[in-house]
Amino acid sequence: MLKIENLHTTVGETEILKGLDLEVNAGEIHAIMGPNGAGKSTLSYALGGRPGYKVTEGSVSFMGQDLLDLEPHERAAAGLFLGFQYPVEVPGVSNVQFLREAANAQRKARGEEPLTGGEFLKLAKEQAGLLKLDMDMLKRQVNVGFSGGEKKRAEMVQMGILAPKLAVLDETDSGLDIDALRVVGDGINTIMRKPDKAVLLITHYQRLLEVVKPDFVHILSQGRIVKTGGADLALQLESEGYDAVMVA
Ligand code: ADP
Ligand code: MG
Ligand code: MG
Repeated sequence: MLKIENLHTTVGETEILKGLDLEVNAGEIHAIMGPNGAGKSTLSYALGGRPGYKVTEGSVSFMGQDLLDLEPHERAAAGLFLGFQYPVEVPGVSNVQFLREAANAQRKARGEEPLTGGEFLKLAKEQAGLLKLDMDMLKRQVNVGFSGGEKKRAEMVQMGILAPKLAVLDETDSGLDIDALRVVGDGINTIMRKPDKAVLLITHYQRLLEVVKPDFVHILSQGRIVKTGGADLALQLESEGYDAVMVA
């Protein structure tokens, strides 16, 4: 599904990713862990095609296409979803409007008919129910005054509606209490743990990985994947710390 080879990315004048290799197959959940400043968020931005994140070397193939050749909206239409560490607030736009726009933009890019209001509401209700998010929340302005947990739930509803092939979730667990963590983790499992889907879960903490069990855990350090293991690698990191595990 995703094959990253020798990816180099610069931000401004600084090279952040320095030859990153990673392969993700359909049906797999990969966790990416690593110290602050390692380049984890840079990886998700580079995959999403965010302006200012310049790929200077390497290749990324996604669903048989050259991902780096696609515009950000084409990447989304191809089935890539990015969840952000800091969701933005959009005053004046309701979640329902925003989600319907997003769903229909994706359908348009795929050459599909837009959803009618009724079709969209049915889909939104289903997905909100899955995430235990009250429909009243979806009528409010995007993320305005939402708690950390509510923002993440809303983001999961967006993911459910867009039904991506690959979700790259950057610290989706940051700022969540235990209950919200479980709802989000269950949401990820329900939406994404399928034979034709995959997840790249960027996280600092083992606790999300107890709900969303990874098939592989990678350590990203100084712009490269320096170690790969199974779910036990995350446990080892938690008990021993990055420094000890990386030299081992
Ligand atoms: P992580 O998510 O692993 O904590 P990031 O990808 O956010 O790491 O950052 C990697 C490095 O890139 C850090 O040293 C950070 O300071 C630097 N960096 C990230 N974004 C920018 C930016 N917009 N301008 C300059 N440096 C940046
Ligand atoms: Mg290199
Ligand atoms: Mg980050």
